[in-house]
Amino acid sequence: MHSRQRTYIDLHVHTWASDGTESPATVIREAERAGLAAVAITDHDTLAGLDEGGEAARGLALEFVRGCELTARGDYDPMHFLGLWLPREAEPIEILIRRQQERRAARNALMLERLAGLGVPVTPEELHEAGRGETRGRPHMAHALVRRGVVSSVEEAFRRFLGNGAPAYVRMDTPDPREIVSVLKSAGATVVFAHPMLIDCPEAWLFDTLSDLKQQGLDALEAYHPDYTPEQTRHCVDMAQRIGLALSGGSDFHGAVKPGLKLGHGGAGLRVPYFVLERLKALRRAQGLPE
Ligand code: AMP
Ligand code: FE
Ligand code: FE
Ligand code: ZN
Repeated sequence: MHSRQRTYIDLHVHTWASDGTESPATVIREAERAGLAAVAITDHDTLAGLDEGGEAARGLALEFVRGCELTARGDYDPMHFLGLWLPREAEPIEILIRRQQERRAARNALMLERLAGLGVPVTPEELHEAGRGETRGRPHMAHALVRRGVVSSVEEAFRRFLGNGAPAYVRMDTPDPREIVSVLKSAGATVVFAHPMLIDCPEAWLFDTLSDLKQQGLDALEAYHPDYTPEQTRHCVDMAQRIGLALSGGSDFHGAVKPGLKLGHGGAGLRVPYFVLERLKALRRAQGLPE
């Protein structure tokens, strides 16, 4: 089947290279089985799953997009950015990621201290063994707590210990959003603000921040995300139009960490139409960037 006859895409997917539970090859196989036209692997703070994903997609009608998800500090919640169509040689992104991995490691150590102080210790070895790739974070701590029998689910681990504001939570030191957008953009990526509607902030702040980031090279807003209400999607589309940003969307699939999400679906019937991909590619052509 030619990809043009396929109707849906998924431009936000995690694998076990970061905090998902499936391998990149499995994700590609599932995306193919779901009949998607395109899928992007967008792991947190790592590009380690991309070669395996590309290899697995070779020869399939499924279009594979190399991506990543990077966290920036925000005046309210942290802000997440997706870089899409990452080049194979992406030294400035690699440097940013290495720095972020160091900060992550420091923050993980602090969180393990807090967990120990709360009487629910997780050892560095247990944290390490809870993941596969180079990224370790709160979902891996949640797994370790489940494995120890301290909690019965990842959700409970976040609610009682790890979630924003919970007793073991430590904020991660992260770069300024402008830096992330510029580094991704100058590497030739298409830059998407991930799930903007999930940030708990005044409307005017979000609008001004997005307008400002557009000047730095922001290309698109994630208007389709499983945690949105239909009203939030409409609002996001409207905001993108007013600011002059393109749209993106995906399931934010993490495998078993976030049950109930399927590739290309996400919860209650999330579907990202193929024209979203066509628009993004048209934008890349207009910018003189390869697809
Ligand atoms: P970290 O990057 O270490 O701060 O962890 C953030 C990741 O934790 C997110 O990308 C999600 O994958 C996951 N996460 C955040 N909140 C929850 C939650 N309430 N339940 C399950 N996973 C969550
Ligand atoms: Fe995640
Ligand atoms: Fe995110
Ligand atoms: Zn994500």
